[in-house]
Amino acid sequence: MADVIVVGGGIIGMTAAMRLRERGAEVTLWTPVGPTETVSAVAAAVWYPTGLTFEPRLLTWAAATYAAFRRQAHDGVPGVIIRETRNLERDGSIGEPWWAAAAGRVRYLPIGAPWTREVRFEAPTVEMSVYLPWLRERFVRAGGRVVRRRVDRLEEALTEAPVIVNATGLAAGSLCGDPEVHPVRGQIVLVANPGVFVSVRDQGEPGTYVHPRTRDVVLGGTFQADNWNTTPEPATRDAIIERCVALVPELAGAPVLGEKVGLRPARRGGPRVEAEKWPGGTVVHAYGHGGAGMTLSWGCADEVAALAF
Ligand SMILES: Cc1cc2nc3c(=O)[nH]c(=O)nc-3n(C[C@H](O)[C@H](O)[C@H](O)COP(=O)(O)OP(=O)(O)OC[C@H]3O[C@@H](n4cnc5c(N)ncnc54)[C@H](O)[C@@H]3O)c2cc1C
Repeated sequence: MADVIVVGGGIIGMTAAMRLRERGAEVTLWTPVGPTETVSAVAAAVWYPTGLTFEPRLLTWAAATYAAFRRQAHDGVPGVIIRETRNLERDGSIGEPWWAAAAGRVRYLPIGAPWTREVRFEAPTVEMSVYLPWLRERFVRAGGRVVRRRVDRLEEALTEAPVIVNATGLAAGSLCGDPEVHPVRGQIVLVANPGVFVSVRDQGEPGTYVHPRTRDVVLGGTFQADNWNTTPEPATRDAIIERCVALVPELAGAPVLGEKVGLRPARRGGPRVEAEKWPGGTVVHAYGHGGAGMTLSWGCADEVAALAF
């Protein structure tokens, strides 16, 4: 019998499972799909606390995750790279952003209208289609078990382990009756990388971002709350390309390699990470990370593991 069953095999479930295994727990991970079929695999997966406002726990998780991915990039972990990032602000901010304490060396540069300031820092960037399978393999090699299984009710897992982690992303809304959980739709376009190495994020409305990876560049995006449509819209794709080319002209004419939609598992009130006693055992909730699941992942996993084992 497992000490802990982690339900959900996205970045939140995988990192929690790994940290639990490192603490010596017998861990089984239940997931109905492979790692590349999760929302986590759609993520541009650049470290940045999109959509979050300051809370001490978020800063702690973001800082620990930044440090963890930096170490992994240094160690040559597949899919983890570091990219210089330019945040182009439009809101006239003058103080340090709340997340700056987590992000290493942050610089502030003047810039012309319509922007009010450029914030520069180095950000870990993760190619999830490479990283998630690597992480799963590492978990299995460390003695973890992965079972292909979908639950209709979380109680199913509680009949097989005294503690479970609920890392089911957007599905957590119905699985534990949380009305604050909702989708924030994100559509992205992937183009061949013409030789771009700097990430750019424009704070306009809608937000625009250009995130170069090794072979392709992720262009985005959309942030459509309560929109459940998972089909890419051609007009949205064209608008994204237009905005990104205006921002980074080197992208003009770059061949389109694909387009994707993911529903960010958002939650009003922020991520839910807490232990709850249920009749059959303990449920440690770990869901609702919205547009920042990669950014919070390893730090959050430390807390989930401590709550669960
Ligand atoms: C376009 C886009 C760009 C993004 N860019 C970034 C970024 O740059 N940086 C960043 O930090 N974040 C980014 N995100 C957000 C990030 O993708 C999410 O925060 C993260 O993927 C959430 O991870 P998760 O493990 O909670 O959810 P998921 O990846 O959705 O994983 C949930 C898991 O639960 C499983 N599951 C669901 N229902 C059941 C069930 N009934 N039984 C068993 N298992 C179940 C699923 O199969 C899956 O394995 C982006 C998201 C999108 C869509």
